[in-house]
Amino acid sequence: MTTLLTNIAELTTNDPSRTADPTGTLHDAAVLIDGGRVAWVGAVGDAPDAEEVVDAGRRAVIPGFVDSHSHLVFGGDRAEEFEARMAGQKYAAGGIRSTVAATRAASDDALRVRLRGFLGEMLAQGTTTVEIKSGYGLSVADEERLVRLAAEVTPEVTFLGAHVVPAEYADRADDYVDLVVGPMLDACAPHAKWIDVFCETGAFTVPQSRRVLEAGIARGLAPRVHASQLGPGEGVRLAVELGAASVDHGTYLTDDDIAALAASDTVLTLLPGVEFSTRQPYPDARRLIDAGVTVALACDTNPGSSFTSSMPFCIAIAVRDMGMTPAEAVWAATAGGAGALRRDDVGIIAPGARADLVLLDAPTRIHLAYRPGVPLVRRVWKDGVPVA
Ligand SMILES: [Zn+2]
Repeated sequence: MTTLLTNIAELTTNDPSRTADPTGTLHDAAVLIDGGRVAWVGAVGDAPDAEEVVDAGRRAVIPGFVDSHSHLVFGGDRAEEFEARMAGQKYAAGGIRSTVAATRAASDDALRVRLRGFLGEMLAQGTTTVEIKSGYGLSVADEERLVRLAAEVTPEVTFLGAHVVPAEYADRADDYVDLVVGPMLDACAPHAKWIDVFCETGAFTVPQSRRVLEAGIARGLAPRVHASQLGPGEGVRLAVELGAASVDHGTYLTDDDIAALAASDTVLTLLPGVEFSTRQPYPDARRLIDAGVTVALACDTNPGSSFTSSMPFCIAIAVRDMGMTPAEAVWAATAGGAGALRRDDVGIIAPGARADLVLLDAPTRIHLAYRPGVPLVRRVWKDGVPVA
């Protein structure tokens, strides 16, 4: 089955061979989908025949969003904690423990229903690739359950047993790290692609984080790191040293952190939903991009610090408050996310790539930031199939 999507006013390809800037933007363009892949990209007048023709109606098309950071397998919510925070209470990493209790109490089926609900929300908002972390089980059996459930819906599964020290290990953090790098890693590694750690005051120290990441690497998992969310630390440099695909948050970065990132292949994934929802200062994406750092945007969907699943919302914040242009923000939410997952088949509209496309109800991608809160995603294709 071939489908020609034509009459596209503005096509963001992210194909650097197309234009001098990384967005590879074409006007009056068309895309041919063959099976689950993009088969051809070019001008409307040159378009090949197809079995099905879809008229974009002079609207914009972008690659499906690649959300490279989420925590979607959990029970309960923390609405009261959010309300208290908006009334002035400070966010602390320890709040994660209340979600751990609710997650342990939930059945596999209850967690599955929840997970599929979030994925549906994301698809409807244009997200076609999602990374999902464990981290609300924190026991061998519960972490295994969470990575197994995540693996049912995405290949991008991250084992985050080192999310926070669970209550039963209070004051015995090193003993908990022994569990994470031993039996827990043994149980989870078969279901996971990535290993992650929350390297932060109140979570895990730099030496503990290094143990976790090195143990995961030894088991064939690739590293990614949560760092510098609540204050400056050494987590970013640890991530760069270990060749992490991504270091995430980066709310408090030093000049040394930025220099290390700029000289590395590690993507910095910014999570503006977190600053929004915890009332922290937004990171200065402009400073990062100007320094040569590769930046991704992700939602960090989780019940504590960022309970949005909307990439358009994150793009709007990145443009409004973090100094990114709309083109940079859309690139970061698509090609940037793909880089953070070391993928070259998503986040790009080019021959051979997966046919993951979003038709916006707008003539340009600028509207994603210009019209915040408005549902502008008109149609979504994942692997060439219309899904929303
Ligand atoms: Zn996270």
